[in-house]
Formats: sequence, C-alpha cells, structure tokens
Amino acid sequence: MTKKLLLINPAQHNRTNLATLLRLPPASLAYLVSLTPADWDIKIIDENVESYMFEEADLVAITAYTCNAPRGYEISQEYRQRGIKTVMGGVHVSAMRDEAIGFVDSVVVGEAESVWQEVLSDFEKGDMKPVYQGERTSLDNMVKPNRDLYSKRYRLLSVETSRGCPNDCEFCSVPAFYGRTYRQRPVNEVLDELEALKTKWFFFTDDNILGYGKKAEERAIQLFRGMIDRGIKKRWGCYVGIDFANNPEVMKYAKKAGCLGVFIGFESVSEEALEVMHKVRNLRVGVSNYREKIKRMHDYGIGVLGSFVLGNDGDRKDVFDKTTEFILNSNIDVVQLSILNPFPGTRLYERLKQEGRLLRTDYPGDWKYYDFMDVLFSPRHMTPEELSEGVARVYRDTTSRMTCLKRALISAVQTRDLLGSTVAYLGNRGAGTLWMKSSEQRVGM
Ligand code: SF4
Repeated sequence: MTKKLLLINPAQHNRTNLATLLRLPPASLAYLVSLTPADWDIKIIDENVESYMFEEADLVAITAYTCNAPRGYEISQEYRQRGIKTVMGGVHVSAMRDEAIGFVDSVVVGEAESVWQEVLSDFEKGDMKPVYQGERTSLDNMVKPNRDLYSKRYRLLSVETSRGCPNDCEFCSVPAFYGRTYRQRPVNEVLDELEALKTKWFFFTDDNILGYGKKAEERAIQLFRGMIDRGIKKRWGCYVGIDFANNPEVMKYAKKAGCLGVFIGFESVSEEALEVMHKVRNLRVGVSNYREKIKRMHDYGIGVLGSFVLGNDGDRKDVFDKTTEFILNSNIDVVQLSILNPFPGTRLYERLKQEGRLLRTDYPGDWKYYDFMDVLFSPRHMTPEELSEGVARVYRDTTSRMTCLKRALISAVQTRDLLGSTVAYLGNRGAGTLWMKSSEQRVGM
C-alpha cells in the first residue's frame, strides 16, 4: 500500500527574512526525495513560498534552521496530536537534540542522507528511535538530488559540490555540523548534475567552492573548465574566501564558465573584530588589501557580494561609519549586513552564555529572533539599541534608490557585465528594503 510522506520547510514566525526574499529551496529535501523508496507518495511543502495547511500523511519530516525551528515544532505538534509520526532534522535540532525530542517523535542529528532509509524502515516496523545520528560520509557516488517535486515558485536552484570547513570562526556552525574535514564530490558527478539542471540560474551552496589548498584550487579549475567543455551555459554564483582573488586562473575560468559574482564573508573592516571572531583567512589578507582584492575580481568581470557582521566585541561605535565608508568607496557590488548572531552549537553562543550576555533566552520560542536582524546579546562597546540603529543607519546611507543606482553604474563599468550590475542594484535595494521592513515587524513582536 502506498504511504504518504510530507517534507516540510517551515517559515519563520511573522517575519520576512532572506529565505522568503530569495526563495531558495531547502537542498536537503531533494536528497531525501531521491532516497525514499518508490512505494511512498511524497509531497514537499515550503511555507516560505506557499501557504501551509494541515493535510493527511503517514509520516512528516521537517527541516529547519534556528529561526524557523519554533514553527517547525508547532507544525510537528499539530501532526502528533492527530497520531501522525514526525521526524525533524537540520542544523538547529542537531545542536539542540534534547530540546527537539520534546516536540517530535524522532530527531536526525547531522547529515540525514546516511540514516534516512533506516528512519523509513523503522517507521514501517512501528519502531522509530528518538535519535538518529547521521554520519559524515564520503561525497563520492552521492545520490543525485531529485528536484522534480520542488515548487515552481523558487527563484534559484542550488548545487552542492563539497561540505565541511577546516577553519573555526567563533560564530559559525559549519564546522560543528559538517565537520572540519573538507569533503568534495568528484568533478564529473557535479558536471552530470549541472547538465541535468533545468534552470538557467543556480547557486553553488558550498561554504567555499574554492576549497583549501592547492589541490582544491586545481579541482575548482577542473570544475569550471568542465562546465565550459561540456557547454553548460548557465549563470551562477558561489561562496568563496577572499583568497579567491589570489588565483588569476581560477577567476578566468570561473568567469568563462558563467560566474556572475562571488559571495565573500569580509565580516568586518576592523582587524580587531576579525581577531575576536578568529577569521584567520581574512586576517592573512588584511583589511587594507580588501579594496585591491575587489578590483582584481572586477578585472576578471566578476561581481563581489560582501557580507559584514556587526556587533563583534572588537567593534566600537565608529564601526558603522567605517563600514559605510568602505561600502561607498571600495566599489564593492552588493553588501549584506548582519548583526552578530550566536547560533546554538557555536563557540560564540557558549561564550556569551557563560558571560551572561544573552538577551533572548526564552527557548524554544525565542529562537525565532535568531535571524541576524535582532540584537540577541549585550554588545561590549555599545548598547543593543545603538547596535540595532547603527546597522539600520548603514543600510539607510548605502541603499537609497539614487545611491544604489550610482553603485550599479560603477559596478557595470568595473565588471563590464550589465546583467551583473542589474542584479547588484536589485540586491542592494532588496537588502535595504528587507532590513527596514523587518525593523517594522520587530516593533510589533
Ligand atoms: S565562516 Fe566560513 S571560513 Fe569560517 S568556519 Fe564558517 S565556513 Fe569556515
């Protein structure tokens, strides 16, 4: 008899966030679709792009980050009250296993692919375990993600070529979730997946597609050359470290393979802040060299989307003006600003907790505030209000319509990519508008 499986990605409570704006699909669900036997009828419901309503099912699997975990728990309770089993996975419940057990029948800790078939088989035997520990397996011969059940409302598809990071930035949950060993998929398997991708646009979701070390850089070149050789004519973006700009060959082939822009965690214009967060890659490059690195990427026609985190212990009140000055004078194409967010499972969270500086601790409800837009701790050199207002001021000073237009024109001249500069304009306007809209929503929360 056919059983029904619902795969659910919950939305954050009453808040517009980046996921709603970007409409990116939760990649893990496409792997679960592939790994589910044919006698299951599967449906994906993503509350970020469509409305959610209870519907009958035999089993419900929920994925969540931290900010949408409370909503995930709420949905789980709705099904459990009707006697329907639920299982939840993702980065939040992996860090907060004991909390999650109170709201779901089973928790998958870590990477779900290695245990998913065991979960289904235990369900069929009526013997689901409270916890399944996913393993960090090799990425060779990985199952191909099945995206056929994705909503048509997604704006961008994502492709993953590696997992893990050997670095240990204090605020980051990647090393805890994916491990500090950098694992890569074979290039040919990635190319096969790209060839089968039905959309023109996509995003490589690896935390750093360039990897770590000479061999990894050669693999990136092999991947980009493979895309050119196979005639995969798509436009794409990816996350890289700032040292991407050190290798002309990587940049040359990335551009030829369709790279529109790279997302880089610059994190801060203050080396004191970089030291506090242990962002060693950026310290090696040096803040004074950021502008030159941006220019080098522009020379190869590649746009730069920089992410900056404000509120670090090394940040003083002048950090906002310094960040604004950098954004307006470095020719950086797009900027995303965040307030330092102590995610559970990170060293930052543990430190702030020990120091008694966390402000929103009525869990699990308060996890909904953990989305980079709220001040969740007492900053060292300013008040929470000054931090919140400071970030809003940087956005106000850098994302007005006229300023974004001027920045997009510079972008067009620098990268010689009209499409890229149009995306840059929309990205800057969208980021500023999202921040202001979210500020209004916060007032009512
Ligand atoms: S922020 Fe980037 S470099 Fe630092 S640990 Fe996370 S993934 Fe690695």
